[in-house]
Amino acid sequence: MGKLKYDCTDCVGYCCSIYDRVDVWKKDIKRLGKHFGLTPDEAKEKFTRIVDGHRALKRKSDLIFEETCIFLNQTTRLCSIYDARPDTCREWPVHSGNRCVYYDILKFERKQQDDPTFVPVVEIKVLVDADEED
Ligand code: SF4
Ligand code: SF4
Repeated sequence: MGKLKYDCTDCVGYCCSIYDRVDVWKKDIKRLGKHFGLTPDEAKEKFTRIVDGHRALKRKSDLIFEETCIFLNQTTRLCSIYDARPDTCREWPVHSGNRCVYYDILKFERKQQDDPTFVPVVEIKVLVDADEED
């Protein structure tokens, strides 16, 4: 795959923030419970919710984006449970090879603005297919 062309320590956590759903499965909930000394049921209740019929991590208000994952540390902008993070997060950004599209946007905009601290806010919107309306 080659050297990674993104650096999460120099990012603001787009992947943790702009998606409404970070899906979790039984294995993830068990891992979260173990990390926090909770039973799977307790972890499920405390850290997850149902979104569009899928069990996903809960979210919280964010300083940069409207919301982010409950586990994003808003000071470091890094995952606060890195070793216990769900498989969904472990696999990201698997489809992009050694790149992360959001990191590319961040770097591009910082260069355009000539400001190494500039943070473009990116939002994902799912548009309803016109054929599916009515
Ligand atoms: S958006 Fe990309 S660079 Fe930023 S934290 Fe996520 S994986 Fe890392
Ligand atoms: S669990 Fe960690 S890596 Fe996964 S979305 Fe939340 S903060 Fe990001």
